[in-house]
Amino acid sequence: MEKAKHKLRRPGIRTQVMLGFVLFTAVIVALLWIFQISLLNLFYKAIKVSEIRTISERVVNMLDDGASMDDFIQITRTTGVSVLVADKNGTNISVSPNARGGVLERFGIWDCRRLFLEVKAAGGSVLEDNIVDSSGAAEKSLSIIFARTVTLLDGGEYLVLLSSSVVPVDSTVETLKVQLWCLTGVMIALSFVLALFIASRLSGPIERINASAKQLAAGTYDIRFPEQGAREVSELAATLNYAAGELSKAEDLRRELIANVSHDLRTPLTMISGYAEVMRDIPGENTPENVQVIIDEANRLAGLVNDLLDLSKLQAGVLTLSQEDFNLTADVRETLHRYDKLADYSFPFLYDRDVYVHADRLKISQVIYNLVNNAINYAGADKTVSLRQTVENGLVRIEIRDTGEGIPADKLPYIWDRYYKVDKEHRRAQVGTGLGLSIVKNILDLHGGRYGVASEVGQGSTFWFELPVCSVQDTKTEE
Ligand code: ADP
Repeated sequence: MEKAKHKLRRPGIRTQVMLGFVLFTAVIVALLWIFQISLLNLFYKAIKVSEIRTISERVVNMLDDGASMDDFIQITRTTGVSVLVADKNGTNISVSPNARGGVLERFGIWDCRRLFLEVKAAGGSVLEDNIVDSSGAAEKSLSIIFARTVTLLDGGEYLVLLSSSVVPVDSTVETLKVQLWCLTGVMIALSFVLALFIASRLSGPIERINASAKQLAAGTYDIRFPEQGAREVSELAATLNYAAGELSKAEDLRRELIANVSHDLRTPLTMISGYAEVMRDIPGENTPENVQVIIDEANRLAGLVNDLLDLSKLQAGVLTLSQEDFNLTADVRETLHRYDKLADYSFPFLYDRDVYVHADRLKISQVIYNLVNNAINYAGADKTVSLRQTVENGLVRIEIRDTGEGIPADKLPYIWDRYYKVDKEHRRAQVGTGLGLSIVKNILDLHGGRYGVASEVGQGSTFWFELPVCSVQDTKTEE
């Protein structure tokens, strides 16, 4: 406990969402700063260079189509790029008028001729940037110059010179910086507000679930988890509601079980001590009949304790089956023999051959015994419990039928639960503990066998189970 207290508290959803948002904002703002401030010049130049190259392509195409001065003027007007075209000797210079006074104006015939040879030697195109426009002018203006040589369709060789002025980005950067400071402030504030909002929407329902879960852990099983918030959270709440419901059912069952067991144990014990006291205190009461009552009650107690032990072992899964091949039909007959002393009951058993199964012999005998016992306890006025054995599709089916009061259809699914009794108020003293069918169910489940019951109120019930046959003996052994 002490250790847990000293352990560093994990950050909650609120803190984590906040941290995430702040980090995200920091990254975005940093990227903005890098691109807008540091890389702006680089991007601007790259765009200008690619633009000037594209325009040079256009000029070459226009020359092929016999372009006029007007066309170059048009280019300069729309793109701001000045154009100079000269033949290989430097003559026939045509400069778009807008460029006059700019860098291209400085190129004379000899410059063009020299440039033509230089460019040709350099592979056909040369790009120069950072050329100072007007020397000595107050405002420093830079230009990019792109020169290329071209052979037209008519065979003539020309020099195409393009220039574009590059405005220094420094002042733009200053403006952007101010804007970015404002933007950074707004984004940080916004990210805090958004983080708070999202975190409280997310963590609110989880915190409520957490509070309810703590109550559930403390034993309040009827707690309800509020199913609100995001889909996953409300699903979690629904699952927890279901779990709480199941826990509450299990708790009810546990209470009922303890109540039942203590009641069932107390009844025979009271009888035993009552009879024993009577026999000790009252002369003449020490009769064989009274001793028999004590013996019967002690036996009942032993039976109950055995049932309880069996069931808890079966349900804990510690009980392993010791399976063997045995004659199931013979075992049914043997079980019925045990009831020979119940002279007023009859047990007709219908079968056509002896069937062998591979199963746990003792456990299956207990199944038959429990089912026959129930049938006797709930038998009708004819006091007949009929048994039938059929074999079909490699399965042997044993049916145990009585003509008693039957079981209402809505109670049928529950009779296999431990401690379930259809009629809790009017249970007969000699009738069992409510564990019999639960033991039957557990044993047959362990064997993977099917079982069931068909019952009609007032007509009686037929309990049945099925096991896989391993061999049959054709000669019928007479009962
Ligand atoms: P019990 O020891 O009370 O018989 P079981 O688990 O064997 O407990 O049976 C559960 C309940 O199922 C019984 O209390 C009874 O209400 C009902 N039941 C079982 N077998 C029969 C039957 N053959 N006819 C009518 N009701 C039956």
